[in-house]
Amino acid sequence: MQLNGVGVGRAVAVGPTLRMPEPLAEPLDEIATEPAGDAFTRVEAALAAVSADLEARGERAGGAAQDVLQAQALMAADPTIVDDIQAKLGDGRTADRAVFEAYAGFRDLLVQMGGYMAERATDLDDVSRRVIAHLRGVPAPGVPESDTPFVLVAHDLAPADTALLDLEKVIGLITREGGPTSHTAILARSKSIPAIVGVQGAENLADGTLVILDAGAGTVDTSPSDDDLADARQRIAERSALASAPLTPGALADGTVVPLLANLGSADGAAEALALGAEGVGLFRTEFLFLDAAAAPTVDEQVVQYERMLRAFVGKKVVVRVLDAGADKPLSFLNDAHEENPALGLRGIRALQASEQILIDQLTALARAEQAVNGSGTRAAAGAGAAAGTGSGSGSGGRHAERVDLWVMAPMIADADEAEYFTTLAQELGIQVAGVMAEVPSSALVADQIFEFADFVSIGTNDLTQYTLAADRLLGSVAHLQDPWHPAVLRLIAMLGRAGRDAGKPVGVCGEAAADPLLAVVLVGLGITTLSMTPAAIADVRAELARHTAPEAEALARAALKATSAAGARTAVSRLAAANAVG
Ligand code: PEP
Ligand code: MG
Repeated sequence: MQLNGVGVGRAVAVGPTLRMPEPLAEPLDEIATEPAGDAFTRVEAALAAVSADLEARGERAGGAAQDVLQAQALMAADPTIVDDIQAKLGDGRTADRAVFEAYAGFRDLLVQMGGYMAERATDLDDVSRRVIAHLRGVPAPGVPESDTPFVLVAHDLAPADTALLDLEKVIGLITREGGPTSHTAILARSKSIPAIVGVQGAENLADGTLVILDAGAGTVDTSPSDDDLADARQRIAERSALASAPLTPGALADGTVVPLLANLGSADGAAEALALGAEGVGLFRTEFLFLDAAAAPTVDEQVVQYERMLRAFVGKKVVVRVLDAGADKPLSFLNDAHEENPALGLRGIRALQASEQILIDQLTALARAEQAVNGSGTRAAAGAGAAAGTGSGSGSGGRHAERVDLWVMAPMIADADEAEYFTTLAQELGIQVAGVMAEVPSSALVADQIFEFADFVSIGTNDLTQYTLAADRLLGSVAHLQDPWHPAVLRLIAMLGRAGRDAGKPVGVCGEAAADPLLAVVLVGLGITTLSMTPAAIADVRAELARHTAPEAEALARAALKATSAAGARTAVSRLAAANAVG
C-alpha cells in the first residue's frame, strides 16, 4: 500500500515505524478541591521547570532550533499568561484546567492574527501540554526512545521535538498534519532528514511497520517487496556517496556555469553553508533578524549584523533582500495593520515605501557595512559581475579575492515604477548593484521595462507560485496548488529569463523551487543564471545539474512548458531526464 503527502528533500529512508505517544487528554472542567493559593504555587513551579527544560534543550540543540526553543521558554514564563492562570484559579478552576484554558485563549488570539503568528500556535499548545504533564507528574510528550533506528510517525511535531531528534535513531519523519512551511518541514530540511508531511492515513500505521519513505516522490510504501527494498537501499547508498563528493562549483555537464548560492537568515549559518559548498549568498532574508523587534532597528545595530554576513563571504557575492514585512513575515514596526488579505496587502516594497525612513536606514546600513569590509577606495569595482551580465560575481580569484560583492534587492516588485523607485534610492545611498525580486506575476509581464532600472532580477518562486495560482502559501487546504512545477509559473519564469538575456542581465531563482534538483535543471533551461537554496540542498542540485548539458536542459524546459499541470510537467521531465541518462 502507498500513502502520499508532501515530501521534504530528496532522501530515501527504510525502516520500521514508531509512533509518538498519544497527546494528553484535555483536563476536565470540574470544580477545584485544592485551594487556589496552593494550586498557583504548583503551577508556578511547573512553569519554571518547563521553561528551564526548554531553555536547556535549546542550548543542547543550538542554531535555529535554539531560537525556537528559547521563544517557547519565554512563552512558558509569559506574565500575561501567568496572570490569566491565576485569575482562572481564583474562579475555582483546577490547576490543569486553568493552564489549559489560559494557553488555549492565547493560542486562539495567535490563530486570529494569521500568518507567521498562526504558525506559532502549535508552539503554544506544546508548552501547555508540557506544563500539564509536569503538574500531573507524567513524562512530557515527545519523541519515543528506541535502541534501533526508526521512522517517526506523528500527528504533527512541535519544535521542541524536532530540534532534539536523535539523527542516529530517527531516520525519517511522517506526519499527518503540516504543509511545506510547517516547522516539521523547515527543520527536517535544515537537518536533511527525509520527511513526508500532510500524510492522510499516517495515524493508521502500526508500530514496527517496515516502510520505504521516498521524500522526492512524496510517498510512503507500507508493504514493500524485497526488490523495492533492495532498490531503496541502493539509492540510500548512492546518496551518501553524493554527500561526500567534492565541492565543485555548480555547472551543467557541458561546463555551463550555474553558481549555487545559499539562502540565509543570519550570519550564524554562514560556516555551514560554506562547508556545504555555497558559492555565495543568493538570499539574505534580513527580516529574520528583526522578527521579534518592537521598534525599527537602528543603523548601527544593522551595520553589525550585515558586516558579520559580508565578512563571512569575502571573495564571494552576497545578495541582501531589504526587509520583507507582511503576511507570513510580520514585523510590527513596519506593518501592524489588520488586513483581511495580508498577502495582498501592504507588504514587501509597499510597506517600505510607506515607511521610507526604515528603507533609507537599511540601505545606509548596508552601504556602511560594505565600506567597512571592502574599504572605501575599492568600491568602484563592485558589481562587475552584474554589469557584465555573468550573474556570477562569485569568483574568488584575482583582484576581488578580498572583497565582498554586495548586491541589494527589494521584495515584491510589481512594475517598472517600483523598480525605478527602489534602485534609484539604493544607488543614491551608495549601493552599487541594485535589483528586484520577481514574486508578483505582473513583474514577468513587464520584465523588459523592469530591466530598464534593475541590475538583476531574483525570482521568489514561493510567492510567485502563490500569486499565480491564487493559493495562500500558508494554507494546507490549497497546498496542492502551491507547486512551482505548474506550467503557468514556469511560463512566467521563461519570460523573465528571456528578458534578462535580452537585457544582458542576470536572473536568479531564490525560492524553494531552486532546491528541487530536477526543477533546478528546468530553471536553467528557462534562462536562469544562478540558483539559491537552503544549503542542505546544494549537493543534490549540484549532482543533478552535472547530469545534463545546456541543450538537454532546454529540452527539459520545453517539455515542462508544454504540460498542462504541475504533475504533468514533473512526469514529462522525469521521463525525458531518465531517457537522457540512458542515452
Ligand atoms: C519567495 O517568495 O520565493 C522568496 C524567496 O521569499 P520568501 O520565501 O522569503 O517570501
Ligand atoms: Mg517571497
